[in-house]
Amino acid sequence: MPLIKKQKIPLLVDKMLKKFDVIGPVPKDEKYVFSKVSRGEEVFLGYDTSILPPKKIFFPQEETLITFKKDEQLEFKPALEDGTPSKTDGDRKFVIFGVHACDIHAILTLDKQFMEVYPDPYYISKRARSLIIGVSCREPKETCFCGIMGTYTVEKGFDLFLEQIDEDEFYVIVGSDEGRKLLSAYPDFFEASTEETLEKLRKVLKEKDEKFADSVSITGLPTLLEQEFDSVNGEIWEELGEKCLGCGTCCLVCPTCFCFNVVDKVELSGKEGLTKRVWDSCLLADFAVIAGGFNFRPTQTSRIRYRIYHKLKYELERGGILGCVGCGRCNIACPAGIKMQDVIKKIKGE
Ligand code: SF4
Ligand code: SF4
Repeated sequence: MPLIKKQKIPLLVDKMLKKFDVIGPVPKDEKYVFSKVSRGEEVFLGYDTSILPPKKIFFPQEETLITFKKDEQLEFKPALEDGTPSKTDGDRKFVIFGVHACDIHAILTLDKQFMEVYPDPYYISKRARSLIIGVSCREPKETCFCGIMGTYTVEKGFDLFLEQIDEDEFYVIVGSDEGRKLLSAYPDFFEASTEETLEKLRKVLKEKDEKFADSVSITGLPTLLEQEFDSVNGEIWEELGEKCLGCGTCCLVCPTCFCFNVVDKVELSGKEGLTKRVWDSCLLADFAVIAGGFNFRPTQTSRIRYRIYHKLKYELERGGILGCVGCGRCNIACPAGIKMQDVIKKIKGE
Protein backbone atom coordinates (compact mmCIF):
# COMPACT_ATOMS: atom_id res chain seq x y z
CA MET A 1 0.00 0.00 0.00
CA PRO A 2 1.25 3.51 -0.72
CA LEU A 3 1.83 6.55 1.41
CA ILE A 4 1.19 10.21 0.83
CA LYS A 5 2.93 13.06 2.63
CA LYS A 6 0.60 15.66 4.14
CA GLN A 7 2.17 18.59 2.25
CA LYS A 8 1.51 16.85 -1.08
CA ILE A 9 -2.26 16.61 -0.54
CA PRO A 10 -3.17 20.19 -1.63
CA LEU A 11 -0.97 19.70 -4.70
CA LEU A 12 -2.76 16.44 -5.48
CA VAL A 13 -6.13 18.20 -5.19
CA ASP A 14 -4.87 20.96 -7.53
CA LYS A 15 -3.93 18.31 -10.06
CA MET A 16 -7.28 16.53 -9.67
CA LEU A 17 -9.12 19.80 -10.27
CA LYS A 18 -7.94 19.72 -13.87
CA LYS A 19 -10.02 16.60 -14.44
CA PHE A 20 -12.66 16.52 -11.70
CA ASP A 21 -14.79 18.80 -9.62
CA VAL A 22 -13.57 18.46 -6.05
CA ILE A 23 -15.78 18.86 -3.00
CA GLY A 24 -14.15 18.87 0.41
CA PRO A 25 -14.49 20.08 4.00
CA VAL A 26 -13.79 23.81 4.29
CA PRO A 27 -14.02 26.10 7.35
CA LYS A 28 -17.11 28.27 7.71
CA ASP A 29 -17.79 30.47 10.77
CA GLU A 30 -15.74 28.22 13.10
CA LYS A 31 -17.53 25.16 11.72
CA TYR A 32 -17.05 23.13 8.55
CA VAL A 33 -19.07 22.53 5.41
CA PHE A 34 -18.59 20.31 2.37
CA SER A 35 -18.16 22.70 -0.51
CA LYS A 36 -16.79 22.75 -4.05
CA VAL A 37 -13.19 24.00 -3.97
CA SER A 38 -11.12 25.75 -6.59
CA ARG A 39 -7.71 25.27 -4.92
CA GLY A 40 -6.23 22.33 -3.04
CA GLU A 41 -5.34 24.52 -0.06
CA GLU A 42 -9.02 25.10 0.66
CA VAL A 43 -9.56 21.46 1.71
CA PHE A 44 -9.13 21.20 5.48
CA LEU A 45 -8.64 17.57 6.46
CA GLY A 46 -8.31 18.33 10.18
CA TYR A 47 -12.04 19.14 10.50
CA ASP A 48 -14.17 17.53 13.18
CA THR A 49 -17.78 17.32 11.96
CA SER A 50 -19.33 19.13 9.00
CA ILE A 51 -22.62 20.95 9.61
CA LEU A 52 -24.38 18.90 6.94
CA PRO A 53 -23.07 15.53 5.80
CA PRO A 54 -21.93 14.75 2.24
CA LYS A 55 -25.46 13.32 1.76
CA LYS A 56 -26.48 16.75 0.48
CA ILE A 57 -24.40 16.16 -2.66
CA PHE A 58 -26.28 13.00 -3.72
CA PHE A 59 -29.64 13.84 -2.18
CA PRO A 60 -29.95 17.64 -2.05
CA GLN A 61 -32.29 19.43 0.33
CA GLU A 62 -34.41 20.48 -2.67
CA GLU A 63 -34.29 18.77 -6.04
CA THR A 64 -36.36 19.33 -9.16
CA LEU A 65 -37.76 16.06 -10.48
CA ILE A 66 -40.01 17.23 -13.30
CA THR A 67 -40.77 20.53 -15.02
CA PHE A 68 -44.10 21.08 -16.77
CA LYS A 69 -45.48 23.57 -19.27
CA LYS A 70 -48.92 24.15 -20.74
CA ASP A 71 -49.35 25.66 -24.20
CA GLU A 72 -51.71 23.77 -26.44
CA GLN A 73 -51.06 20.69 -24.39
CA LEU A 74 -49.60 19.93 -20.99
CA GLU A 75 -45.97 18.81 -21.39
CA PHE A 76 -43.86 17.15 -18.73
CA LYS A 77 -40.08 17.00 -18.83
CA PRO A 78 -38.16 14.88 -16.33
CA ALA A 79 -35.09 16.57 -14.86
CA LEU A 80 -33.25 13.39 -15.81
CA GLU A 81 -33.55 12.16 -19.37
CA ASP A 82 -32.87 8.50 -20.12
CA GLY A 83 -31.38 8.13 -16.67
CA THR A 84 -28.41 10.34 -17.56
CA PRO A 85 -27.61 13.59 -15.79
CA SER A 86 -29.16 16.61 -17.47
CA LYS A 87 -27.00 19.49 -18.67
CA THR A 88 -27.81 21.52 -15.58
CA ASP A 89 -26.65 18.67 -13.39
CA GLY A 90 -23.37 18.46 -15.34
CA ASP A 91 -21.71 15.23 -16.35
CA ARG A 92 -18.19 15.80 -15.03
CA LYS A 93 -17.06 13.31 -12.42
CA PHE A 94 -16.51 14.71 -8.98
CA VAL A 95 -14.33 13.71 -6.05
CA ILE A 96 -15.51 14.09 -2.48
CA PHE A 97 -12.21 14.50 -0.72
CA GLY A 98 -11.98 13.94 3.03
CA VAL A 99 -15.05 11.99 4.10
CA HIS A 100 -14.90 10.55 7.62
CA ALA A 101 -15.49 6.85 8.23
CA CYS A 102 -18.89 7.44 9.88
CA ASP A 103 -20.12 9.42 6.88
CA ILE A 104 -18.93 6.67 4.52
CA HIS A 105 -21.03 4.22 6.56
CA ALA A 106 -23.93 6.65 6.12
CA ILE A 107 -23.42 6.75 2.34
CA LEU A 108 -23.61 2.95 2.35
CA THR A 109 -26.97 3.24 4.12
CA LEU A 110 -28.22 5.69 1.49
CA ASP A 111 -26.88 3.44 -1.29
CA LYS A 112 -28.95 0.60 0.11
CA GLN A 113 -32.06 2.76 0.18
CA PHE A 114 -31.67 4.60 -3.13
CA MET A 115 -29.85 1.97 -5.20
CA GLU A 116 -31.38 -1.29 -3.96
CA VAL A 117 -34.60 -0.89 -1.98
CA TYR A 118 -36.10 1.86 -4.17
CA PRO A 119 -33.72 2.52 -7.09
CA ASP A 120 -33.72 6.27 -7.56
CA PRO A 121 -32.30 7.58 -10.88
CA TYR A 122 -31.62 11.04 -9.44
CA TYR A 123 -29.44 9.61 -6.68
CA ILE A 124 -27.87 6.92 -8.88
CA SER A 125 -26.80 9.40 -11.57
CA LYS A 126 -24.87 11.51 -9.06
CA ARG A 127 -23.44 8.52 -7.27
CA ALA A 128 -22.19 7.10 -10.58
CA ARG A 129 -20.18 10.26 -11.16
CA SER A 130 -18.63 10.36 -7.71
CA LEU A 131 -15.35 9.21 -6.27
CA ILE A 132 -14.94 9.10 -2.53
CA ILE A 133 -11.65 9.70 -0.75
CA GLY A 134 -11.99 9.11 2.96
CA VAL A 135 -9.85 10.47 5.74
CA SER A 136 -9.46 9.23 9.29
CA CYS A 137 -10.47 11.17 12.41
CA ARG A 138 -7.75 11.46 15.00
CA GLU A 139 -9.86 12.44 18.02
CA PRO A 140 -13.55 11.80 18.68
CA LYS A 141 -15.51 15.02 19.24
CA GLU A 142 -17.44 15.02 22.52
CA THR A 143 -20.74 14.81 20.65
CA CYS A 144 -19.70 11.77 18.57
CA PHE A 145 -20.50 8.19 19.52
CA CYS A 146 -19.02 6.23 16.62
CA GLY A 147 -17.45 4.06 19.33
CA ILE A 148 -20.91 2.79 20.27
CA MET A 149 -22.01 2.32 16.66
CA GLY A 150 -18.68 0.76 15.55
CA THR A 151 -18.22 3.29 12.73
CA TYR A 152 -14.87 4.89 13.49
CA THR A 153 -13.28 2.60 10.90
CA VAL A 154 -14.67 1.54 7.55
CA GLU A 155 -13.74 -1.20 5.13
CA LYS A 156 -15.74 -0.38 2.00
CA GLY A 157 -17.67 2.43 0.37
CA PHE A 158 -14.60 4.47 -0.64
CA ASP A 159 -12.20 4.60 -3.55
CA LEU A 160 -9.24 5.66 -1.43
CA PHE A 161 -8.99 6.12 2.31
CA LEU A 162 -6.23 8.19 3.94
CA GLU A 163 -5.38 6.90 7.40
CA GLN A 164 -3.18 9.42 9.16
CA ILE A 165 -0.25 7.61 10.77
CA ASP A 166 1.70 10.59 12.06
CA GLU A 167 1.74 14.38 11.79
CA ASP A 168 3.08 14.32 8.22
CA GLU A 169 1.98 11.08 6.60
CA PHE A 170 -1.13 9.22 5.53
CA TYR A 171 -1.32 5.54 4.73
CA VAL A 172 -3.43 5.12 1.59
CA ILE A 173 -5.94 2.25 1.53
CA VAL A 174 -7.33 1.36 -1.88
CA GLY A 175 -11.04 0.50 -1.87
CA SER A 176 -11.92 0.09 -5.56
CA ASP A 177 -10.60 -0.15 -9.11
CA GLU A 178 -11.36 3.55 -9.51
CA GLY A 179 -9.14 4.20 -6.51
CA ARG A 180 -6.36 2.13 -8.07
CA LYS A 181 -6.71 4.19 -11.26
CA LEU A 182 -6.30 7.38 -9.23
CA LEU A 183 -3.02 6.08 -7.85
CA SER A 184 -1.77 5.28 -11.35
CA ALA A 185 -2.98 8.63 -12.70
CA TYR A 186 -1.04 10.61 -10.06
CA PRO A 187 2.08 8.48 -9.34
CA ASP A 188 4.26 11.44 -8.34
CA PHE A 189 2.21 12.08 -5.23
CA PHE A 190 2.49 8.64 -3.66
CA GLU A 191 5.39 6.58 -2.39
CA ALA A 192 5.74 2.97 -1.33
CA SER A 193 5.16 2.10 2.30
CA THR A 194 7.83 0.36 4.34
CA GLU A 195 7.83 -2.05 7.27
CA GLU A 196 8.23 1.00 9.50
CA THR A 197 5.06 2.56 8.06
CA LEU A 198 3.12 -0.63 8.65
CA GLU A 199 4.27 -0.60 12.24
CA LYS A 200 3.02 2.99 12.59
CA LEU A 201 -0.33 1.99 11.07
CA ARG A 202 -0.73 -0.89 13.54
CA LYS A 203 0.07 1.46 16.41
CA VAL A 204 -2.39 4.12 15.21
CA LEU A 205 -5.20 1.59 14.77
CA LYS A 206 -4.56 0.18 18.23
CA GLU A 207 -4.57 3.67 19.79
CA LYS A 208 -7.76 4.41 17.92
CA ASP A 209 -9.54 1.48 19.54
CA GLU A 210 -8.43 2.83 22.90
CA LYS A 211 -9.61 6.39 22.11
CA PHE A 212 -12.82 5.70 20.26
CA ALA A 213 -14.30 2.39 21.46
CA ASP A 214 -17.05 2.66 24.08
CA SER A 215 -18.02 0.24 26.80
CA VAL A 216 -21.55 0.28 25.36
CA SER A 217 -22.25 -1.19 21.93
CA ILE A 218 -25.30 -1.60 19.72
CA THR A 219 -25.18 -5.38 20.06
CA GLY A 220 -28.59 -6.66 21.08
CA LEU A 221 -30.35 -3.31 20.61
CA PRO A 222 -33.01 -4.61 18.16
CA THR A 223 -33.89 -7.39 20.61
CA LEU A 224 -34.08 -4.99 23.53
CA LEU A 225 -36.25 -2.60 21.53
CA GLU A 226 -38.58 -5.50 20.78
CA GLN A 227 -39.26 -5.58 24.53
CA GLU A 228 -39.38 -1.83 25.07
CA PHE A 229 -42.15 -0.76 22.72
CA ASP A 230 -44.62 0.14 25.43
CA SER A 231 -43.54 -1.79 28.44
CA VAL A 232 -40.49 -2.37 30.66
CA ASN A 233 -38.71 0.99 30.25
CA GLY A 234 -41.66 2.43 28.34
CA GLU A 235 -41.28 5.70 30.25
CA ILE A 236 -38.26 6.45 28.02
CA TRP A 237 -40.64 7.32 25.22
CA GLU A 238 -42.88 9.50 27.40
CA GLU A 239 -39.85 11.44 28.65
CA LEU A 240 -38.52 11.92 25.12
CA GLY A 241 -41.95 12.88 23.82
CA GLU A 242 -42.26 15.58 26.50
CA LYS A 243 -38.83 16.99 25.74
CA CYS A 244 -38.92 16.90 21.93
CA LEU A 245 -40.10 20.12 20.28
CA GLY A 246 -40.94 18.44 16.99
CA CYS A 247 -38.72 20.83 15.03
CA GLY A 248 -37.27 18.11 12.77
CA THR A 249 -33.75 19.55 12.88
CA CYS A 250 -32.23 16.22 13.89
CA CYS A 251 -33.46 14.66 10.63
CA LEU A 252 -32.23 17.57 8.53
CA VAL A 253 -28.63 17.21 9.73
CA CYS A 254 -28.64 13.41 9.76
CA PRO A 255 -26.48 11.62 7.16
CA THR A 256 -28.76 8.58 7.03
CA CYS A 257 -32.24 10.16 7.00
CA PHE A 258 -33.72 9.72 3.54
CA CYS A 259 -37.38 10.76 3.84
CA PHE A 260 -38.63 13.40 1.45
CA ASN A 261 -41.87 15.05 0.43
CA VAL A 262 -42.83 15.81 -3.16
CA VAL A 263 -44.41 19.20 -3.89
CA ASP A 264 -45.61 21.04 -6.99
CA LYS A 265 -44.78 24.67 -7.59
CA VAL A 266 -46.90 26.37 -10.24
CA GLU A 267 -46.17 29.84 -11.66
CA LEU A 268 -48.89 32.47 -11.19
CA SER A 269 -49.63 32.29 -14.91
CA GLY A 270 -50.64 28.68 -14.36
CA LYS A 271 -48.72 27.82 -17.54
CA GLU A 272 -45.58 26.32 -16.10
CA GLY A 273 -44.22 24.82 -12.98
CA LEU A 274 -42.17 22.08 -11.48
CA THR A 275 -42.32 19.12 -9.17
CA LYS A 276 -39.56 18.93 -6.62
CA ARG A 277 -38.66 16.86 -3.63
CA VAL A 278 -37.65 18.36 -0.33
CA TRP A 279 -36.24 16.73 2.79
CA ASP A 280 -38.87 15.75 5.31
CA SER A 281 -38.79 14.65 8.94
CA CYS A 282 -40.76 11.95 10.76
CA LEU A 283 -40.69 14.23 13.81
CA LEU A 284 -42.88 16.89 12.22
CA ALA A 285 -46.47 16.73 13.47
CA ASP A 286 -48.05 16.18 10.05
CA PHE A 287 -45.53 13.69 8.67
CA ALA A 288 -47.87 10.73 9.12
CA VAL A 289 -51.12 12.45 8.15
CA ILE A 290 -52.92 10.50 5.45
CA ALA A 291 -56.01 11.09 3.32
CA GLY A 292 -59.00 12.07 5.43
CA GLY A 293 -56.75 13.87 7.91
CA PHE A 294 -55.97 10.79 10.01
CA ASN A 295 -52.58 10.94 11.72
CA PHE A 296 -51.27 7.51 12.58
CA ARG A 297 -48.51 8.97 14.76
CA PRO A 298 -50.55 11.61 16.55
CA THR A 299 -48.28 12.37 19.52
CA GLN A 300 -44.67 13.55 19.82
CA THR A 301 -44.03 10.42 21.89
CA SER A 302 -45.15 8.16 19.03
CA ARG A 303 -43.09 10.19 16.55
CA ILE A 304 -39.81 10.19 18.45
CA ARG A 305 -40.24 6.55 19.36
CA TYR A 306 -40.63 5.79 15.66
CA ARG A 307 -37.42 7.69 14.83
CA ILE A 308 -35.42 5.78 17.44
CA TYR A 309 -36.85 2.45 16.27
CA HIS A 310 -36.10 3.28 12.66
CA LYS A 311 -32.53 4.24 13.48
CA LEU A 312 -31.69 1.44 15.87
CA LYS A 313 -33.89 -1.49 14.88
CA TYR A 314 -35.73 -1.36 11.56
CA GLU A 315 -32.74 -0.47 9.38
CA LEU A 316 -30.52 -3.04 11.05
CA GLU A 317 -33.17 -5.72 10.57
CA ARG A 318 -33.85 -4.67 7.00
CA GLY A 319 -30.39 -5.44 5.67
CA GLY A 320 -27.81 -5.23 8.41
CA ILE A 321 -27.41 -1.56 7.57
CA LEU A 322 -27.00 1.16 10.19
CA GLY A 323 -29.77 3.74 10.58
CA CYS A 324 -27.45 5.77 12.83
CA VAL A 325 -23.69 6.06 12.41
CA GLY A 326 -22.96 7.97 15.61
CA CYS A 327 -21.88 11.18 13.86
CA GLY A 328 -23.41 13.25 16.67
CA ARG A 329 -24.87 15.94 14.38
CA CYS A 330 -28.31 15.54 15.95
CA ASN A 331 -26.74 15.97 19.39
CA ILE A 332 -25.22 19.27 18.27
CA ALA A 333 -28.38 20.51 16.55
CA CYS A 334 -31.17 19.47 18.94
CA PRO A 335 -32.56 22.53 20.79
CA ALA A 336 -34.04 20.26 23.45
CA GLY A 337 -30.71 18.63 24.30
CA ILE A 338 -31.81 15.12 23.32
CA LYS A 339 -28.77 12.91 22.80
CA MET A 340 -28.96 9.68 20.87
CA GLN A 341 -26.19 7.99 22.85
CA ASP A 342 -28.05 8.74 26.11
CA VAL A 343 -31.13 7.06 24.63
CA ILE A 344 -29.05 4.04 23.61
CA LYS A 345 -27.47 3.82 27.05
CA LYS A 346 -30.87 4.06 28.72
CA ILE A 347 -32.32 1.31 26.54
CA LYS A 348 -29.30 -0.82 27.37
CA GLY A 349 -29.77 -0.09 31.08
CA GLU A 350 -26.38 1.67 31.48
S1 SF4 B 1 -29.23 9.86 14.32
FE1 SF4 B 1 -27.88 11.56 14.93
S2 SF4 B 1 -25.92 10.59 15.46
FE2 SF4 B 1 -27.13 9.08 14.29
S3 SF4 B 1 -26.46 9.32 12.18
FE3 SF4 B 1 -28.28 10.64 12.44
S4 SF4 B 1 -27.46 12.66 13.05
FE4 SF4 B 1 -25.79 11.18 13.27
S1 SF4 C 1 -33.93 18.20 17.02
FE1 SF4 C 1 -34.50 17.57 19.09
S2 SF4 C 1 -36.34 18.78 19.54
FE2 SF4 C 1 -36.06 18.88 17.32
S3 SF4 C 1 -37.30 17.15 16.54
FE3 SF4 C 1 -35.22 16.36 16.80
S4 SF4 C 1 -35.23 15.43 18.87
FE4 SF4 C 1 -37.04 16.79 18.73
